[in-house]
Amino acid sequence: MAEIVDFLHNPSKYAEIGASLPKGALLVGPPGTGKTLIARAVAVEAKVPFFAISGSEFVQMFVGMGAAKVRDLFKQAGEKAPCIIFIDEIDAIGKRRDTGMGNDEREQTLNQLLTEMDGFDGRKGVVILAATNRPESLVKALLRPGRFDRRVQTELPDLEGRKAILAVHLKKVKHVDIDMDIVARAIAGSSGAELANIVNEAALRAVRMGRKSVTTSDLEESVETVLAGAQKKNAVLSDAEKKLVAYHEIGHALVAAMQIHSAPVHKITIIPRTSGALGYTMQVDSGEHYLMDRDELFNRIVTLSGGRSAEEVVFNTVTTGASNDIEQATKLARAMVTRYGMSEKYDMMGLETVNNAYLGGDSSLTCSADTASDIDREVLNVIREAHDKARKIISENMEIMHKAASFLIEKETITGDEFMKIVNDNTDGQNHKS
Ligand code: ZN
Repeated sequence: MAEIVDFLHNPSKYAEIGASLPKGALLVGPPGTGKTLIARAVAVEAKVPFFAISGSEFVQMFVGMGAAKVRDLFKQAGEKAPCIIFIDEIDAIGKRRDTGMGNDEREQTLNQLLTEMDGFDGRKGVVILAATNRPESLVKALLRPGRFDRRVQTELPDLEGRKAILAVHLKKVKHVDIDMDIVARAIAGSSGAELANIVNEAALRAVRMGRKSVTTSDLEESVETVLAGAQKKNAVLSDAEKKLVAYHEIGHALVAAMQIHSAPVHKITIIPRTSGALGYTMQVDSGEHYLMDRDELFNRIVTLSGGRSAEEVVFNTVTTGASNDIEQATKLARAMVTRYGMSEKYDMMGLETVNNAYLGGDSSLTCSADTASDIDREVLNVIREAHDKARKIISENMEIMHKAASFLIEKETITGDEFMKIVNDNTDGQNHKS
């Protein structure tokens, strides 16, 4: 993008050597990562006019209107060159036909766009930026050299990125000294748009609490609101239920604490949330992770089994409270077998492809029906093994379970440090990690 800005500033530098700018760049990434913002920023940096249009606007038009609109757009842009044309949601017009059913209007619009892109002179300085979150669905013709031949990935921000984005949004609200590190760590995997929302929620909370500025705890609370829903103040759990939830959560925390390769426990709470969660254990990774090894993934499944295991070991019962854990554990175990090549049986064979990587990432199996049912057995083995390990950890540490659970029932929310103190006080300083 910096190169595009530079080209628009001094085209002669590039012309001298005979280079011409890529005509188009495709901004690809998950929703909320700032594709439109980047396109705008390029126009502002380059101090050129910015023409923006959304692909979905073309779809509802009468036949012929879309093509005419594209023609107009390029005509205007040609007169105002150098300038930037931004087409948001380009997949709405540039989608590959896979159903066999054509959409005349879309085809005509697309053809007009291709013609215009081929027709104009790259040296004039009209740059076309387009954004999509489903790059795999675009027609090949759009991606050919001379059209959108450059691809710019907008990814979810990493830790440093999140801190920087938070700082930008915090400029807009009055705040005291904020511990950015804690907040940024707690929201791994959030997009820029979500970060903006978190800061705004924190500001609203500060107003609700009758304060004049946003504090770190406002931000922490709004992170939890975004992750798990708002606190449900009027939900009253019976003492028996509260006890069950407390042991369930301590089960997760204890299993996490007793394993290496697992993120430290940051907070445990049994205040019900509007999302339906009756409590949760928040783990916050101390560093940024790009790779995960088999042990880490497996231990994560063990930690997810911790809640249910506590119900079993302590109360000799099972509850519906583990449904979300079960869902996540199964997803992880399945990915280990089908996508990460982490099962003995299937070695490095890919058994699943991910379709919409940027939109939820639904996947489809690429193997025979026989193998598919065998995969289920493999997945079950992984989960069984993890569940057994969790049960073992809990039964070996019942004293900590009881102490931590009664502390949690009394306080309703405890910090990771408070929890680790109970763990360490009761393990005689030995390293019980396995
Ligand atoms: Zn759970």
